Amino acid sequence: MSRYLIKGARTLGGEPTDLLLRDGVVCDIGRGLWAPGADVVDADGLVALPGLVDLHTHLREPGREDAETVETGSRAAALGGYTAVCAMANTSPVADTAGVVEQVWRLGRSAGLVDVQPVGAVTVGLAGEQLAELGAMADSAARVRIFSDDGNCVSDPRLMRRALEYVKAFDGVIAQHAEEPRLTVGAQLHEGEVAARLGLAGWPAVAEESIIARDALLAGHVGARLHVCHVSTAGSVEILRWAKARGVRVTAEVTPHHLLLTDDRAQGYDPVFKVNPPLRTSSDVDALRAGMVEGVIDVVATDHAPHAVEDKECEWAYARPGMLGLQTALSIVVEVAFATLGWDGIAERMSRTPARIAGLAEHGRDPAVGVPANLTLVDPAARWRVEPAELASRSRNTPYAGMTLPARVVATFLRGAATVLDGKAVR
Ligand SMILES: [Zn+2]
Repeated sequence: MSRYLIKGARTLGGEPTDLLLRDGVVCDIGRGLWAPGADVVDADGLVALPGLVDLHTHLREPGREDAETVETGSRAAALGGYTAVCAMANTSPVADTAGVVEQVWRLGRSAGLVDVQPVGAVTVGLAGEQLAELGAMADSAARVRIFSDDGNCVSDPRLMRRALEYVKAFDGVIAQHAEEPRLTVGAQLHEGEVAARLGLAGWPAVAEESIIARDALLAGHVGARLHVCHVSTAGSVEILRWAKARGVRVTAEVTPHHLLLTDDRAQGYDPVFKVNPPLRTSSDVDALRAGMVEGVIDVVATDHAPHAVEDKECEWAYARPGMLGLQTALSIVVEVAFATLGWDGIAERMSRTPARIAGLAEHGRDPAVGVPANLTLVDPAARWRVEPAELASRSRNTPYAGMTLPARVVATFLRGAATVLDGKAVR
């Protein structure tokens, strides 16, 4: 069993201390620790955070292993400071049975780089017609607690109500991709000035907001937990604030790209900026940042969406929506929100709260004696240039290519075992 002595790390940016990791847990914390035989990690100047937890990752296996596998996505996650990711269900076959979620769960265990927690589909084949076997997935070895048709919206209100009622029994949560499909037929980017100028069909904010409002009312009526994926508009933040004030059990996530990028990026027709929901306006970005700091938006989630070259390097209209996110998420959040959140706020939005929503009790815990040693060490002073070819993902569709970003993950530990050291994956 590996032992690591981390010397001089600043937990959540506090005073430097040493941490001894043994038997999968943090077994000692204090100045001047000494542990013969342990591997020493010099963490002078580094910040220790609880390992990050991503509620929204597309790993593409089974079915599109040319774009990503559980292993390559897990490696990208570890390099991004993550110790757990929730793998979305829109694979091929769809993760709508106990058999498929157990397969994904086992692939995650054998890769051993992060805990891969499968998300189950809400409806059979993501078709929005018939509930999937939610109970069997919950009872499976994968112990599914989050269900989502992400990629698609559960647009039938009766089906959404039944799904909420069903998962309430075991305190599960329905994670909704909020997009009223009748309002986004043929949509290519945010409905606004840029879309009008480019002559592309728009994806209106109201298509998201109307579903969030409806689902908040349904969740309140049923008394079940709703999670809203990738909130992208200022109006959505207002609706969430209203729903939370009424006591609705709703949580929400925002992606790093919606916190940084705007729809004018589409002007060069580079499909790397095509994503669903689309990039919005600068006033939406401002509202999302403020909503995240306020806590109306609970979580930053990546919506890491790898795509093979032929699905992305083509005409805008034919390109698949989605962007890589795992290896850049922490840096983007530091860039846009460090001044307002600090390390504690970042740990809250990227580790503790997502772990709580997903029911991952071993994750999202600040380093303390006896706590599972899931943590990451970050160099807050480092700046690094995003080189797509150097990313661990099997795909290359990062919108940040060539950008210089702050803060770099130096080491990540999963149950006391290093998955990343010196900024490199250990395997
Ligand atoms: Zn989605």
